[in-house]
Amino acid sequence: MSNPFENALSQLARANAVKAFDPKFIKQISVPNREVRISIPVTMDDGSLEVFEGYRVEHNNARGPYKGGIRYHHDTDIYEVKALAFWMALKCAVAGIPMGGGKGGITVDPKKLSKGELERLSRGWVRGMADVLGPKKDVPAPDVNTTPEIMGWMVDEFAKISGDTTNATFTGKPIALGGSEGRGPATGLGGFYVFDALRAKYNVPEGGSVVIQGFGNVGGNAAEIFQKNGYKIIAMSDSKGGIVKEDGLDIKALEEWKKVNGTLAGFPGSRSLTNQELLELPCDVLIPAALENQITGENAGKIQAKFILELANGPITPEADEILYGRGIPVVPDILANSGGVTVSTFEWEQNLKGEHWSEADVFAKLKELLDRETLAIYEESIALKTDLRRAAFIVALGRIAKAMGYKD
Ligand code: NAD
Repeated sequence: MSNPFENALSQLARANAVKAFDPKFIKQISVPNREVRISIPVTMDDGSLEVFEGYRVEHNNARGPYKGGIRYHHDTDIYEVKALAFWMALKCAVAGIPMGGGKGGITVDPKKLSKGELERLSRGWVRGMADVLGPKKDVPAPDVNTTPEIMGWMVDEFAKISGDTTNATFTGKPIALGGSEGRGPATGLGGFYVFDALRAKYNVPEGGSVVIQGFGNVGGNAAEIFQKNGYKIIAMSDSKGGIVKEDGLDIKALEEWKKVNGTLAGFPGSRSLTNQELLELPCDVLIPAALENQITGENAGKIQAKFILELANGPITPEADEILYGRGIPVVPDILANSGGVTVSTFEWEQNLKGEHWSEADVFAKLKELLDRETLAIYEESIALKTDLRRAAFIVALGRIAKAMGYKD
């Protein structure tokens, strides 16, 4: 499996080859400002002690406090967190929000922990990281396998340690603890806004067929939103595998099915397939919404989608990017496509700091206005530089960060 941080640096080099930045800036932006690793001792329900490894990587804060989610996964390691922190710095710059980039994680399979163990682990991560966190310093959020409930425990632990009562140090919180309306569906909805702003420019048919890998916060919300807007979701998957139904899946019914049966398999009228087979299905839009390194040099030649919207972070390797570009399959990069999540997280932070609570309609209107504007800017940059959307997005983001760091264009 390729190292995601090396992939991120290789994406940086590809963008820098199209528009060369000051070499001093490239040297500086290629490394994180700070990496924190901690041991988190947790008393398990049976009285035994387990020690987990936790991370926070703070990549760059020239444009504002470090911002980025916390991932709980058995494969999470420092390289993954470093890549995600770097992409967050670029993503916040792409979205034009006043935040830098950071990311956190714990190497753990949360499905193996009881709720009490999960809470003690989450509070332990905050105790270990408290020195580097704060509303003006570093503001974490949910990511894979972390939820509003976990953010609630974290913000409570941080308040006990620091005395900070703004609740602004974590976003993605429950509404009762200062969460924002609309934060749950924000990444999927933002993905739809970005897609809709680009659709006609790439001749993607309105109401076409959609395949989605991942059925969590991002994939599940994207499925509902695309379906509500007239698209046919023909295949979905989770970590156990996927299902396909060419005449379209009813997403609400599928959610119910998964809740009752714990798996997508066996959903009436569908047939099962592997995640690899799912990625290679013919469709108008393919949405990877699970993890990194899903489309690689191995399978990029077999992708039959007409258009790819990267809602996961880092699902396409640089080698695959080159193949897809050569085959004329447009890819909307993660740092643009999934920036709706961090944008609404930033709205949440702003509401907490001002003591305000905005309506869902206000949140969505602000999100759409911002994403329409930034998507168009990146599309125009890609046309002007005769390059793909990923390199254009990197170039726009790097330009904004470089300026904030005092480098000239
Ligand atoms: P989640 O934990 O809610 O869901 C993850 C989903 O991926 C689950 O359905 C899981 O079963 C599935 N999955 C895991 N391993 C898989 C595999 N090998 N093959 C297929 N499916 C697999 O996480 P999420 O918040 O939906 O995040 C998904 C992706 O979106 C991640 O890359 C994350 O970094 C990115 N992202 C999330 C947000 C957000 O707001 N939550 C924002 C931006 C980007």
